Amino acid sequence: MKFSKIVFSLAAAAFLTLGLMAADTAKPVAVDKKAGCCVTAEKAGGACTHGCCVEAAKANMNCEKCKGTNAAKK
Ligand SMILES: [Zn+2]
Ligand SMILES: [Zn+2]
Repeated sequence: MKFSKIVFSLAAAAFLTLGLMAADTAKPVAVDKKAGCCVTAEKAGGACTHGCCVEAAKANMNCEKCKGTNAAKK
């Protein structure tokens, strides 16, 4: 029954490798993140008045100049 043990450990190793790879690729997923100034303005019940943020909002984006991020939209 040695052979099945080897097969099992190989399968386990492959599974672990795939799992690690999946974890690796899952981590750097780009996320939409609003710029801090815009979050503050929203909490205060309004929209950010920065020119750059207004322009970004028009394009339905988060202002990248103010450290906002936009997930790749495809
Ligand atoms: Zn802003
Ligand atoms: Zn801005």
